[in-house]
Amino acid sequence: MSNPKPNMNLPKLIERFGNEDKCHAYLAELRWPDGVACPRCKSEKISTLKKYRKYECSKCEYQFSVRVGTIFHDSKLPLWKWFLATYLICQSKKGISSNQLKRMLGVSYKTAWYLTHRIRAAMNTEGEKALLREIVEVDETYIGGKVRGKGHGYRGNKTIVVGAIQRGGDVRLAVIKERSRRELHDFIEEHVDDRTEAIFTDDWEAYEGIADENTLHKTVNHRRKEWVRGNVHTNTVEGVWSLLKRSIVGSYHKLSAKHLPAYLGEMEWRFNNRENPFLFRDTVLRLIGSENLPYRELVA
Ligand SMILES: [Zn+2]
Repeated sequence: MSNPKPNMNLPKLIERFGNEDKCHAYLAELRWPDGVACPRCKSEKISTLKKYRKYECSKCEYQFSVRVGTIFHDSKLPLWKWFLATYLICQSKKGISSNQLKRMLGVSYKTAWYLTHRIRAAMNTEGEKALLREIVEVDETYIGGKVRGKGHGYRGNKTIVVGAIQRGGDVRLAVIKERSRRELHDFIEEHVDDRTEAIFTDDWEAYEGIADENTLHKTVNHRRKEWVRGNVHTNTVEGVWSLLKRSIVGSYHKLSAKHLPAYLGEMEWRFNNRENPFLFRDTVLRLIGSENLPYRELVA
């Protein structure tokens, strides 16, 4: 099967997906790698109605397009707009706001908003995450704007995000209610292998007690301006925070607390696939497999 070449760029994308027929063919290849099958009766005796970009099952006479039963089915948008939106969201390290997407694709804000939320939902890997191992850094950060008349330290309007990252590997992010021992320990338990070699954090006391007989816990003392001691530091996860904050400042002006978990999922997906040359294809595959989420459910 002919996949798009690794490290696809915009000219290659246009060459490959520049018209609707090419997009349909690509989607059909991804969806039915062993040949088109009837979504109703599974028969593989299919004739092609090329003019209408449809197929007809010779057994049950069902007529269908490659979009049927996928997220693309209820959307009137041409596939190339879906693909271009997906490509842009995959490629941009910091993500793309609905407003940016609206301008780039020449679609309405509502359409751009729908696309970003749909594509983001497809990037959600909840329930399929492997446990982090070896050396894992854990840290938390505050997300949310300043409030007029309140100082920098004011946190009443902020949301706490906790992150764990395996050195040289994947990151896991989550929203937590408070920086308490229970919340932090639960997060670590959920995402980090019990037998992991070491967990590195700052000296926030709520982390105390995460070591056990096969896992070391080492800390750097940020209050005493200690940032690195040998290989003990939390610089990797702090790099993720700076990316997260730049993207929120840069493109997500009104990112609400409600949509933050979905946005963290998007960031995770992009970050964890940073070396995957087939990121675009793999994201389209997830779109094919993702359930259709009606617009009214998104805005509820
Ligand atoms: Zn059939």
